[in-house]
Order: sequence, then C-alpha cells, then structure tokens
Amino acid sequence: MATIRDLVAAAASSGEIDARHEAELLLGHVLGRPRAWLYAHAQDGVDVDAQRRFESLVEARRGGRPVAYLTGTRGFWTLDLLVTPDVLIPRAETERLVELALERIPVDKDCAVADLGTGSGAIALAIASERPRARIVATDASPAALAVARANAERLGLANVSFAGGDWCAALGAQRFDVIVSNPPYIAAADPHLGQGDLRFEPVSALASGNDGLDAIRSIAAQARAHLEAGGWLLVEHGFEQGEVVRALFSTNAYTEIATARDLEQRERVTLARTPLRPLRMS
Ligand code: GLN
Repeated sequence: MATIRDLVAAAASSGEIDARHEAELLLGHVLGRPRAWLYAHAQDGVDVDAQRRFESLVEARRGGRPVAYLTGTRGFWTLDLLVTPDVLIPRAETERLVELALERIPVDKDCAVADLGTGSGAIALAIASERPRARIVATDASPAALAVARANAERLGLANVSFAGGDWCAALGAQRFDVIVSNPPYIAAADPHLGQGDLRFEPVSALASGNDGLDAIRSIAAQARAHLEAGGWLLVEHGFEQGEVVRALFSTNAYTEIATARDLEQRERVTLARTPLRPLRMS
C-alpha cells in the first residue's frame, strides 16, 4: 500500500515550485484532513480508492486546472472559502485591501460598507468577521457568483453581510456608505496573461475590463461618489502598473486624500481616496 509520503513525493516530482504544497492540498482534500495532519501521518497507508481520486486530481492539475477549483476551497484572511469556477480565486494581495479598509472601519461603531463585485465574498466576509458592527452590502452582476458568496456567508455564520445583484453601484439603489471597496477586473482584454496559468480557468468577467483594463475602475470611480457619505472612503485594487492612472481617475472625479498603497511585493496595488468632508461652497 502506498503511504501518504509516497503519494505526495510522486505527485510533487513534476518540478513545479508549488508542486509539493499543491500535492498536499489535493491529498488533504481527498482524505478530508488539513495539511498539518499529513505530516503527522506521513507513514500511514492510503486506500486504493483514495489513491485513485488523488491521482485523478493530480492529472487535472497537470492539465492546468487551478488547485482551488479542484478542492473547491481557498484560504483568505482567516477564512476558509468555498470557490467554484463561477468566481475569481481569492488572492493574497487582496488581503492588503482588507487591511486598508479595516483601518477605516471603527470597531465600536456602526458603519455601512459596500463591496462591489464580491465574487466568492472574500473581501466582504473578511471585513464582516473583523467588524461585527459593520453592515456590509456585497454586490455582483453574476447570479452564480452571488450564490457562492451567499453560501460562504451562511457557512461562516456571518449575518452582517447582505447581497444584491447588479453592475457596480447599480446594485446599491439609493443607499450611501461610509466605505466602498472593490477588487474589480483590471486586466486589458488583449493581455496575453489571460491565456496563461490559473487565469485561463477563471471567469473572464472577473479579470478583464476593456481595452486598457480600466473600464470597471472608471465606472466605479464615477458612480461611487453618489453612494458615499461626506468623508467616505473608496478603496480599489488594481494592477501594479495602474497606480498613476487610477489616481488620475480619482482626481478627475474630485476625490480628496488620494493615495496608493503597495502590496507585500512592494507593488502599487490599492488606490484609496475619500469624498470631501463638506460640500464645496460657491462664492
Ligand atoms: N491580480 C489578479 C491577477 O493578475 C487579477 C485580479 C483582478 O483582475 N481583479 O492574476
């Protein structure tokens, strides 16, 4: 009988950097155990049925399918999220957006927050888990994505998030918010990266946005003004080469305190700004 150690080693021998980690995630999924358990049980035998299921997942992974879609889960912030091919796979760099949002959402006060294009619900649910007093509206144009986000909210028992279908601010009705966050699609439609790696399997509507990748951010920057309270914050994730153009877009829409924050790799990743504290007086 093959042991856990044998199976991981054989699957990881494909030479990819992440192969061992990925093999462990896939075997852990088949056995219904966390990765750490595999280390403590490396010498345990694996029954033939589980071995077959594992090997067929490894085969699918070799064919390019993202690990998160094969296991149906991805860790984000402190949460274990369900993911399907209907939603973008949550990325580590988006945790930067969560941190920046949390700095602007008080722990001890009510706060209205919107997450535009929520996908799996990653950002909204991470905020909800850290700020029980915040009331969060998570939107998505895709009913299939909203179903995944709702399932995540339910599974995590986070009742302070509600869901609404529609494009960007169209889903918000007449509501105003203290903080609006979004990780919109921001890749140019002709970018060759869309044909590579995990991106090939993710919903293109969650990745690509017009010729320059900025259609969604343009809409959000323009529309969010009318949905923010005075002094409210808008925080948008973008590509690492888009900081300057996103700051300019925010400036065109008369936001103030415009700044861009970097991710862990020191790349410009999130631009944030607020609406003026009081309306401009004409004299
Ligand atoms: N950061 C992702 C990538 O380049 C894109 C996510 C997005 O478009 N919001 O893989």
